[in-house]
Amino acid sequence: MSLEFLNPSAPLRDWDNAHVWHPFTPMSAYVKESAPIITGGEGFDLIDSSGRRYLDGISSLWCNVHGHRVPEIDEAVIQQVRSISHSTLLGLSGEPSIRLAKGLVDRAPAGLTRVFYSDSGATTVEVALKMAYQYHRQKPGGPEDRDTFLCVGNAYHGDTLGTVSVGGIDLFHRCYRHLLFSTVTTPSPVALRVPEGHTRQSWLQHCFDEVSRLIQTNHTRLAGVVMEPIVQGAAGILVHPVGYLKHVRDLCTHYDVPLIADEVAVGFGRTGRLFACEHEEVAPDFLCLAKGITGGYLPLGATLTTDKIFEAFLGDPWEGRTFYHGHTYTGNALGCAAGLASLELFEKKNILANVTACADIISRKLATLNVHPHVAEIRQKGLMVGIELVQDRELLTPFASQIRLGHQVILAARERGVIIRPLGDVIVLMPAPGMPPQLVEHLCDVTIECIDLVTRKVAASL
Ligand SMILES: *Cc1c(COP(=O)(O)O)cnc(C)c1O
Repeated sequence: MSLEFLNPSAPLRDWDNAHVWHPFTPMSAYVKESAPIITGGEGFDLIDSSGRRYLDGISSLWCNVHGHRVPEIDEAVIQQVRSISHSTLLGLSGEPSIRLAKGLVDRAPAGLTRVFYSDSGATTVEVALKMAYQYHRQKPGGPEDRDTFLCVGNAYHGDTLGTVSVGGIDLFHRCYRHLLFSTVTTPSPVALRVPEGHTRQSWLQHCFDEVSRLIQTNHTRLAGVVMEPIVQGAAGILVHPVGYLKHVRDLCTHYDVPLIADEVAVGFGRTGRLFACEHEEVAPDFLCLAKGITGGYLPLGATLTTDKIFEAFLGDPWEGRTFYHGHTYTGNALGCAAGLASLELFEKKNILANVTACADIISRKLATLNVHPHVAEIRQKGLMVGIELVQDRELLTPFASQIRLGHQVILAARERGVIIRPLGDVIVLMPAPGMPPQLVEHLCDVTIECIDLVTRKVAASL
């Protein structure tokens, strides 16, 4: 065996193209692109192997909170390495996991008192689905065989088969349909394009009525309702109308169906509150947290739930009511240590006030795109932004998919030292909640310039 992988002057680009299969990445195009190989970070910059700096405009895929190489988080992780990096939570405990559970419960909506750790966003939703399903089989008052979930159209909850089952993004999910369990889907309450015969207003009303109808009709079968509160991220940053989350919460309460709030993307400050459910004073029965939980340092997830759910799993060990689910790295000590340091920084640096200030800057800056001939809609909640580009603004005709317009825009931004990543032709901005206002302004300026440049160039060539 050779130790060639240690070679200091390794041909990293060749090895990347030869060996690394990148997620959500069309590999045949990727290998021709010489994408930056990131070797460092500092503050809100990423630094590549040639020393070039890029502003991290998508929080390293929606998870970074306070920047990179944050002294306080670095120190917390290093201190933890010096104690222990990992031991198991299966029948044992660990100090940072206990402290973080307390920190999360103290900050989460009322009633969420129990924390089940795992290691990614998908696993937190997977855990909630299995817990909710098992809950009905063991709950006081007699078992119920509830066998499906209600989910929202265009939802994204992760890439494991359970979370794909409750997902609704055709491009990602259709291939696996025979492997999935069946669900009840209610239309996403958004109204850029509405079905024949509807106005925007009547369509949104229909979405409110439809979720009422579906929960009423199916409540005896529904093990839970799963949704991304306030903003559906991967669907293209779809911002729900005010009151929708509360409406669903009220229905769940009325029909006694647990509400699973997937705050993997929206949690930890991105919408302007620590948790998005706070906008409508909603307490879900399950709260799924990942991405920002460690400040963007390490893979960690947490599913919070109530005493009511937890107690249905109690009983003598031989009764078989235990939740038989776990991952080897569940509640990893380094991740929890990073999470604790990140929570402390939220308060010390008044991160939520920064989010509000930066969100205002973004809406003011992007207002110049409101009349742009290729911008269909600008959607924003806090620091989550989606700018949908179209060939024809009036007819909302998309650009042909072969053009990869969104991709061209982000390549232009990369040339200008800014890293962003689109969802199709929706340009996504997701600055870290701790990003200083001047950097957020720069991110907006570069994005506006690139959108204008690329759409005009492409439109002229059609
Ligand atoms: C990213 C995301 C997930 C999946 O998280 P992973 O850590 O990538 O598994 C789940 N739900 C939502 C809303 C997300 O944005």
